Amino acid sequence: MKHRIVVLGAGYAGAFCAGYLARRLHPDDVEITVVNAESDFVERLRLHQLAAGQNLRHRPLAKIFAGTGIRLRVARITHVDVERRAVDLVDGQGVDRLEYDTLVYALGSTAADHGVPGVAEHAFHVAARPAALRLRARLDELGDHGKVLVVGGNLTAIEAATEIAEAHPGIPIGLATRGELGGWLGPKARRHLLRTFDRFGIEVHEHTTIARVEQASVVAADGTIFAADTTVWTAGFAVHPIAAASGLAVEANGQITVDRHMRSVSHPGVYVAGDSAFIIADNGLPLPMSCASAGFTGTQATAAIIGDLTGRKVETTSLPYVGNHISLGRKDGLFQFVDGDGRSMPGALRGRPAARVKATILAFTAWSLRHPTLGKPSHRYRLATTREHAPEVVAA
Ligand SMILES: Cc1cc2nc3c(=O)[nH]c(=O)nc-3n(C[C@H](O)[C@H](O)[C@H](O)COP(=O)(O)OP(=O)(O)OC[C@H]3O[C@@H](n4cnc5c(N)ncnc54)[C@H](O)[C@@H]3O)c2cc1C
Repeated sequence: MKHRIVVLGAGYAGAFCAGYLARRLHPDDVEITVVNAESDFVERLRLHQLAAGQNLRHRPLAKIFAGTGIRLRVARITHVDVERRAVDLVDGQGVDRLEYDTLVYALGSTAADHGVPGVAEHAFHVAARPAALRLRARLDELGDHGKVLVVGGNLTAIEAATEIAEAHPGIPIGLATRGELGGWLGPKARRHLLRTFDRFGIEVHEHTTIARVEQASVVAADGTIFAADTTVWTAGFAVHPIAAASGLAVEANGQITVDRHMRSVSHPGVYVAGDSAFIIADNGLPLPMSCASAGFTGTQATAAIIGDLTGRKVETTSLPYVGNHISLGRKDGLFQFVDGDGRSMPGALRGRPAARVKATILAFTAWSLRHPTLGKPSHRYRLATTREHAPEVVAA
């Protein structure tokens, strides 16, 4: 019987892991199944563009995995039973259970509501495609009437506010954030950001904590009421509750606790990649949720799986945090590098060159999903048959 590898989620981390493993492990030894809620690869980095009215290119997963032997299962995962090594799914045909020998958990994250009342009922977000499409429909419905308030002052809030402002110049847009807008940026990047918000006419309310969202307004902790026909909630990401409910060891924020090789510390045989994993980066700080982190953690997880299943020494790969690329509409952007302590450097790439760099990164990322070995010739390893699959846990 073949060793059954099940990959949960086909976002940046899951699609990479599945494609890479299919090219590195012998097809006579392993059977790889990917379970994903959608039949397409969703470019999450472009969901603010989708919400603002742009049409994204369809990237069917069946095409991305063509010729690899990967089985694709389009279904919603409802539960992971890590004791019985099984996953519960639901799709158009009903419920089903899938058993595994090795699990790759890469379900990503969703919008974090931080327990603020009214967010679930009244706010829109851009953390998943269905949500981005709901916001798009709402913005179309508003036409040039009504106000939009974006909540949050970090990357997704900045990208969403500027994208909507550029695509819907007639809609008045405000942004409310607990701290400062892009307060972590270096001085040059921040000046550029504030000038851009000014150019788009986005009204910024800093040091404003939102305590409640209502149907046509948002209420701050100090009682200030902001009129908002549409509230866009972009105040960070949270891991899907499936991880904690499965019995896997998780951190206070719900991310799965892993060793340095991305193995669950509580359940060997479960490997984690992308936003769902809590891992300390090379700089000694938690690795941020990002597309680049999905690539680095995916690279480490696949190295561990190959090592553990074939009896080879597991290579420790790097987990760096180098900076952020931020779009400010379609023609403007920022590329902020960080130093070895994760602090923004004084300089930054700004304007059109930054927008071009970001476009190149996005295009390269999409290309790399079909070429996870980056064009290097595939060498397929056979599984070790003579030893137990009992990987040694490596401290994070
Ligand atoms: C609008 C926006 C802009 C962003 N911009 C940037 C940026 O510029 N740079 C950057 O580095 N990061 C950016 N990010 C963050 C980045 O998208 C994430 O860090 C990255 O997607 C994480 O990859 P992942 O594979 O862990 O998760 P995802 O890409 O979210 O993939 C998870 C997959 O799991 C599937 N899934 C989830 N739950 C279930 C379930 N129950 N059943 C079945 N399938 C399920 C999803 O459909 C998805 O395909 C942005 C995010 C958003 C929302």
